[in-house]
Amino acid sequence: MPECPRCKLINPSGTRLCDCGYALSLPPDMQAAAIRNPVSGGSSRRAVAILLIAAVGLAWTAYLLMINGSALLGIAPNNLAGVYMIVLIPVSLAVVGLAFILLNARK
Ligand SMILES: [Zn+2]
Repeated sequence: MPECPRCKLINPSGTRLCDCGYALSLPPDMQAAAIRNPVSGGSSRRAVAILLIAAVGLAWTAYLLMINGSALLGIAPNNLAGVYMIVLIPVSLAVVGLAFILLNARK
């Protein structure tokens, strides 16, 4: 029962080509170029992109909590909030842009 080194699928004995396209009878360096990349390559990039968007969402949530929290407590938003906003807008735009590039990248 050969296990595919690429997708970890257990193939029936005698199988030459795995469902993912990996030629089980050939050594790894003789696989087709597209096959040499691990299957998980795309999904880990996706996970990073989702993580980046989540981080931006978290940063904005923290910011809004800080603004609302100080308003509720009767304290004027301090200079930190202003500085945070100036940094937050370009950084979140850059991070979300990067996340979209990661999501749309094919290779
Ligand atoms: Zn496979």
